[in-house]
Amino acid sequence: MSASDPGKLDRIVAEARRAAEKRERGYREKALKIYPWICGRCAREFTRANVRELTVHHRDHNHDNNPVDGSNWELLCLYCHDNQHQRYLVTAAPDEAPPSREPDRPFTPFAQLANLLKRNHTA
Ligand SMILES: [Zn+2]
Ligand SMILES: [Zn+2]
Repeated sequence: MSASDPGKLDRIVAEARRAAEKRERGYREKALKIYPWICGRCAREFTRANVRELTVHHRDHNHDNNPVDGSNWELLCLYCHDNQHQRYLVTAAPDEAPPSREPDRPFTPFAQLANLLKRNHTA
């Protein structure tokens, strides 16, 4: 068993993240091919220069539901996408909570600062 391998979980997490990113790129590209580059809410038009501000929204809020005909996708600008999710959060249970990006790290900058000050004081 390699249960003592501390890098194993990290690798699994990294792989899962990579797979999710790949999947996301996949449906995004497909959605951008199927639909005109226009926000479905505010009708803002997008070009190659700013298309990264156009996002793919899942109508049923299930990112794993990606039918090839694009029926679960809606292109929304960042702003409208945010709005859409806020509305969803107030009207329904938040089952699409954003993943916490930063792992909890016991990082205490002020403890170090205190040490530095102490050292200066005695010098
Ligand atoms: Zn919009
Ligand atoms: Zn969405």
